[in-house]
Amino acid sequence: MEKNLTADNYYSPEQNSRFFSVSQYKDFMKCEAAAMAKIRGTYKQPVTKALLVGSFVDSYFEGTLDAFVRDNPAVFTRKNELRSEFRKANEIIFRIRSDSLFMRFMSGEKQRIMTFELFGTPWKMKMDSYLEEICITDLKVVANFRTMPFWRYDLQGALYQKGVEIVTGQLLPFYLAVATKERVPDLDIFQVPQSTLDLALKEMEENMPRFLAVKAGMEPPRCCGKCDYCKSIKAARIRNYNELLEDRG
Ligand SMILES: [Zn+2]
Repeated sequence: MEKNLTADNYYSPEQNSRFFSVSQYKDFMKCEAAAMAKIRGTYKQPVTKALLVGSFVDSYFEGTLDAFVRDNPAVFTRKNELRSEFRKANEIIFRIRSDSLFMRFMSGEKQRIMTFELFGTPWKMKMDSYLEEICITDLKVVANFRTMPFWRYDLQGALYQKGVEIVTGQLLPFYLAVATKERVPDLDIFQVPQSTLDLALKEMEENMPRFLAVKAGMEPPRCCGKCDYCKSIKAARIRNYNELLEDRG
């Protein structure tokens, strides 16, 4: 029998094989070969400092910062001082705590997990702050506001909104509670408009048959040829020097 999905096994290979998630969907969008290698456990994406700073802030609001610091010694320098990135994270946490609107959005149930069926497959999702019958909020710590569309948070919003609707029957608005890592941190609450969420869900619906076929092993995964995983498995070939002038690839 399959184990239930819990906070402890949420990111385990078993649960990643069994469930789709927004991050897995985004992996497939970027590179099917790398996505499959991640699911099979043959490729692990390195944890960057930027990712770790986000997790540091997340775990503070979840009330699990002690455990996070214990599990991530990279937070400290060899002299056992907090690294500058995490001093910045502390500054951001302080700034967020001083803003009552931001704190209201962060006052929901933390890291609430839901599972549901959509596009012919089971999905898992985990919400940063879930205010039942009111809204879904995801906390983001970003370099600056302008780079946000690049990260396609609309896909996450679309799936979270749909998941909550399937599980509870309620269509809730989706917000991003965003703080920046700028010299002076900026902060705002962004609502992703319903029309944008609807478009994102439609896009997912169109891509899912292909991704499901690849995940089930019925179609071979395509290599993007450019990501770290593809570089790590490629064979060298002879190329024309001048092609570098054409597409700067
Ligand atoms: Zn690739």
